[in-house]
Amino acid sequence: MSSKPTELTEYDLVRYDRQIRIDGFGLVGQRRLKRATILVAGAGGLGFPISVYLTAAGVGTIRIIDPDIVELDNLNRQLLHWDRDIGRKKIESAREKLSQINPTINIEVYDEKITDENALTLVDGVDAVVDALDNYEARFALNRACIEKRIPFFHGAVHGLMGQATTIIPGETACLRCIISAPPKRNIFPILGPVAGTIGSIQATEAIKYLVGVGNLLKNKLLFYDGFYMDFSIIEIKRNPKCPDCGRLNV
Ligand SMILES: [Zn+2]
Repeated sequence: MSSKPTELTEYDLVRYDRQIRIDGFGLVGQRRLKRATILVAGAGGLGFPISVYLTAAGVGTIRIIDPDIVELDNLNRQLLHWDRDIGRKKIESAREKLSQINPTINIEVYDEKITDENALTLVDGVDAVVDALDNYEARFALNRACIEKRIPFFHGAVHGLMGQATTIIPGETACLRCIISAPPKRNIFPILGPVAGTIGSIQATEAIKYLVGVGNLLKNKLLFYDGFYMDFSIIEIKRNPKCPDCGRLNV
């Protein structure tokens, strides 16, 4: 990680000008983004807005993990993948598009299913992990790995016209296991593209704010989005001291 160039170039100063102007960002914030490595777990419906916005914002290295191939019924929401990509690995399709959106960042791809066995290795060396998964087995594996390595974990999930997001700082906030004890079974679920776009954009905003060091994060807050009634709500959550995953961590 230390070999990466972290000074901003003339190109960077122009490319990121409109976000450098944001209060609290500045050149320091942009350099922090450029130095950062972020893991996006999934190259599907949530992975699309998350990876596109992190790429366009100039996060230095983006590590994308997804074991799947592009299928026709992905295309209503997974806009990194197009008709011509059906049958390709999602990570290859994603790498091709993202490297064209911003040719100056590093994109690492891993063709792996996230499990308890490989999660610690996959999160190695990253500054933050963004949840763009579609199942809770992998989410819990990542949650545990992030707790073990004290890496912030930006959770998001969608279903139909509904979505949720929270920001998990190990040892400080409730973790995924604190708030979800009985995850829904994995099956084919309904989903509208812009709902994934909304939740993924919130996760990307949170991750960028964390890396830059500005604003208030969704810490111990679970944001719910209901697209049917067009309503956002936030509920306060707290750590479960008996949580099997994070209960042993000190505040
Ligand atoms: Zn916990």
